[in-house]
Amino acid sequence: MSKKPQRSGSVNTASQLSALSKQDIKQAIVRHLHCTLGTDENKANNHAWWKAACAAVQEQVLERLRMTQKTHYLNDTRAVHYFSAEFLMGRLMSNNLHNLGLFEVTHQALLELGVNLTDIMEEEPDMALGNGGLGRLAACFIDSLATLDMPAVGYGLHYEHGLFRQEIQNGAQIERPDSWRDYGNPWEICRPESIQEIPLYGYVETKYGENGQMHKEWHPGYIVKGLPWDIPVVGYGGKTVNVLRLWESKASGYFNWDVFNAGGYVDAQRENVQAETISKVLYPNDETEAGKELRLIQQYFFCACSLKDIIRRYKRAHGDDWSRFTNQVVIQLNDTHPAIAIPELMRILVDRALMDWDKAWAICTNTFAYTNHTLLPEALEKWPARMFEKILPRHLEIIYEINHRFMLQVEKYWPGNDAIKRKLSIIEEGGEKMVRMGNLSVIGSFAVNGVAEIHSKLVKQNLFPEFDQMWPTKFKNVTNGITPRRWLKACNPALSDLISTKLGEDWPLHLDKLQALGDFADDKVFQQEFMLIKHNNKVALCEEVLQLTGVELHPEMIFDIQIKRLHEYKRQHLNLLHILALYRRLLENPDYDMQPRAFLFAAKAAPGYKLAKNIIYAINKVADKVNNDKRVNHKLKVVFLPNYRVSLAEKMIPAADISEQISTAGKEASGTGNMKLALNGALTVGTLDGANIEIAEEVGDDNIFIFGLTVDEVMALKQKGYNPYDYYYGNREIKAVLDWLETDYFTPGKPGELAPVKQSLLDGGDPYLVLADFESYSEAQKKADLAYRDKAGWARKAILNTARMGKFSSDRSIKDYVERIWKLNACTVE
Ligand SMILES: *Cc1c(COP(=O)(O)O)cnc(C)c1O
Repeated sequence: MSKKPQRSGSVNTASQLSALSKQDIKQAIVRHLHCTLGTDENKANNHAWWKAACAAVQEQVLERLRMTQKTHYLNDTRAVHYFSAEFLMGRLMSNNLHNLGLFEVTHQALLELGVNLTDIMEEEPDMALGNGGLGRLAACFIDSLATLDMPAVGYGLHYEHGLFRQEIQNGAQIERPDSWRDYGNPWEICRPESIQEIPLYGYVETKYGENGQMHKEWHPGYIVKGLPWDIPVVGYGGKTVNVLRLWESKASGYFNWDVFNAGGYVDAQRENVQAETISKVLYPNDETEAGKELRLIQQYFFCACSLKDIIRRYKRAHGDDWSRFTNQVVIQLNDTHPAIAIPELMRILVDRALMDWDKAWAICTNTFAYTNHTLLPEALEKWPARMFEKILPRHLEIIYEINHRFMLQVEKYWPGNDAIKRKLSIIEEGGEKMVRMGNLSVIGSFAVNGVAEIHSKLVKQNLFPEFDQMWPTKFKNVTNGITPRRWLKACNPALSDLISTKLGEDWPLHLDKLQALGDFADDKVFQQEFMLIKHNNKVALCEEVLQLTGVELHPEMIFDIQIKRLHEYKRQHLNLLHILALYRRLLENPDYDMQPRAFLFAAKAAPGYKLAKNIIYAINKVADKVNNDKRVNHKLKVVFLPNYRVSLAEKMIPAADISEQISTAGKEASGTGNMKLALNGALTVGTLDGANIEIAEEVGDDNIFIFGLTVDEVMALKQKGYNPYDYYYGNREIKAVLDWLETDYFTPGKPGELAPVKQSLLDGGDPYLVLADFESYSEAQKKADLAYRDKAGWARKAILNTARMGKFSSDRSIKDYVERIWKLNACTVE
């Protein structure tokens, strides 16, 4: 897809800052082509041009990074440390250029060199070090932190392989390794001077001092090295450049032979993971916990490296005086994945700094804050205590001690109530003993937040009600957000230019200003401009779809888009059933009155999630049939785009008319895809779930298509006893489309291939209430279809969606964190 890069007519703050001329940039790129890449203008291919351009940009970035670090050091700033097992960064070139204010001048410089910036940006592999929303949120947050001049460091894992690359073969998902660094990553800097050593395995020795005081010493069996890679994070305007520090594991050569020879240890060591495998792969499970040993080691590895790094930096300014630690350091735990940092800090303070327990605990519980991302039971992390003891023997002891002291507190609140104690304990008893990371995170943090109003309410009411009673001020809400730099300015340059001509250049920093677009919602000329841009974005996506799948779409069709991880709770199969219903209606009545519509999907399924893969297969098989059926395919098309990732999202979102946000109420904590699509002028068809509720509040009922059971209705229906057969026998259309799946209509000669989808909705009990919501969904879709026929009416709604998304800037989310949780001050870098 060739997208015309953005023209930014007037000079903005960002480009003033960088006094780089087109000539300077040309020279820098050519210099790098010669001196870094060892090639020249005549020989260079797009990949070489891309690398040379990155190197030229990186020079600018590193200069600003140095200034930022110096400024933060001199001001001894308090900083937030965002601990996350995932950062779904995507590509960095476009974002860095926009944030430095160098996009247009670089575009021009390259044109003079005979090179198209848009084309060479396609050479950049996505940094896909995350699964989905949680990882992408971390990426948006570090963008906003830098933009708001907040001292911040992102800490995570330098996976050698990010999320797998998805291929579709004969309709089925095939996983291929993602090798994002095979040809080097021009944005990252290796920092061997900051290597950390991390202990694992071994045993704990109990020692007694001269006064009889007990002291614990961990004799690790194994030590791995953590090598940090820094990725600069450029704020919009280019002043603050923070760092994302990702740890790669390396063998240290250290192996404790005493431990090895100690009785019973041989077996344990046999399972020892090789040091280098620790940071090899990202676990591809979204919203499920696999409970694998290597995963716990990954978590400990990056948390231990990061804490050592933080403490080294703290000591450089404050020596051994711990009294100011909680003034300088706050650590945000992105879900429970980094919760092991809590006992690790306790270990450092008690065992190494020889601090007494209460003092250490006070430091801990004033350092950590925890974000909960899910209520799904299968996603709540638990580790077998036996596994814990083997890998982290001292941490298990510390967790028992934390728990023991906490249980005394619970006894004071609920004397003699063993049921509550069992529920709140960090240790789950009965069956195999398990360590509950959620409970540990709540107990060890000073703040716990959910990610949308409804979700935060459910965290308090359903997940942690007793904790909320004990600490009523601990629980908070911070509704998620997205960075408007990537998700509007960079990905939709035409719309961004139109907005800038109406509102000026600074809306990416103050997204609330978009509301002034509302003044033009009924302006015929503006409507036409707005919808022409949508049309052009659809034309561009048509080209992309044709290239990727061979399917021809027409921009006159409604582009109805569902893009997100494949999961039953997200209900891609509800969308599919509705498509089947439309197909049937068209076959039964060729004059069935509907607007031509293209349903576009993109989604990866966790490799071990069978039903999710079945749903992908079913979508593809239905697509094959529908797209080749001359009777209907002028009105109905279905497309599944392979390998969903940030860079694909950036191409699909600007072209969307309808955004499918159809999770079972209560299951989607927030969603952020919903925000990206609405910001780009798509109308949501959605349930009252997660941030959809807040989106509906912002855009108003006329500008969104809400359907389905509410959270309360879902709970009531489950309470009463839900029977999907009631809907199967009660609705002829539901029965017909489900039965259709069992025939060989979509899989000629192979009947039953799509039956697992039907089965899950009937005998499987339809756990996510797909059939219960079908009729209401179908009605909402009819309303959307009718609304689309009124061109001006639709334009108005689309404009108002864009205009009213100001709340969902991740800058607002970060300001909420800063004010309500982190208590940070901005530090401007000159
Ligand atoms: C935004 C985003 C997500 C999250 O989408 P939801 O619809 O909120 O689940 C997942 N993956 C990618 C690549 C994204 O950009």
